[in-house]
Amino acid sequence: MNVTSIRNLREGIAEQIVDAYVVPAAMAAYVRGRDGTCRGPGCSIPAANCDIDHRIPFDEGGLTTPANLHTLCRTCHNRKTDGVMKVIMDAQGADHWIFPDGSVVVTLPDGPIVWPGKRMLDGRWRQSWEERTMQRRALRREENRREHQEPRERSIA
Ligand SMILES: [Zn+2]
Repeated sequence: MNVTSIRNLREGIAEQIVDAYVVPAAMAAYVRGRDGTCRGPGCSIPAANCDIDHRIPFDEGGLTTPANLHTLCRTCHNRKTDGVMKVIMDAQGADHWIFPDGSVVVTLPDGPIVWPGKRMLDGRWRQSWEERTMQRRALRREENRREHQEPRERSIA
């Protein structure tokens, strides 16, 4: 098979708005590439096996554009549709899932296509839960070490 054209998925599609409910194939591919997995809380179903969901429903004025689209597996999609959890997105592309008890879980796109907001969350802003836990434990250890050392240091001085 000969390659006749190569298309950069990022080009133009991130900002594209389509005046229809149906998500064009190229836009769906972009959203899957950006999200990597289901965007539901604690879910890791590969994006290839997910629905493309309008965060704000199309019939409630939600646009068919990547900023209003995310990948949801059928289970998470049903939980959202049934109102078990509600979603609010922010300008950086994070999904804030709100549960009836008021708790909130934030999920971020994690696919191979770099979404514009990801750069803001990279470096010191982007941290996995494990990294954060390790960092906090290291800080606590350091604090404990200092607390135990201080009296000795004082007695030496
Ligand atoms: Zn899911």
